[in-house]
Amino acid sequence: MALAPAELCSTCSSELVQLKINVDGHDLIMNSCTTCDTRSWALAGDDINLAEALEHVGTHAGRRRKLSV
Ligand SMILES: [Zn+2]
Repeated sequence: MALAPAELCSTCSSELVQLKINVDGHDLIMNSCTTCDTRSWALAGDDINLAEALEHVGTHAGRRRKLSV
């Protein structure tokens, strides 16, 4: 897997810290700026908003909970 070049914060141009979470086989990526605390989310290469991101994580968690019962 090729390493993507670091993205820059749209607010303060600092390098963003990238956090990758695997949700149902898709890469949910959080870009976090440690300088101004701006966060953006992307799923499978598409920019999504935080509400959508949490929805994906919540759906995933809910499904796992149901399976374990
Ligand atoms: Zn920033």
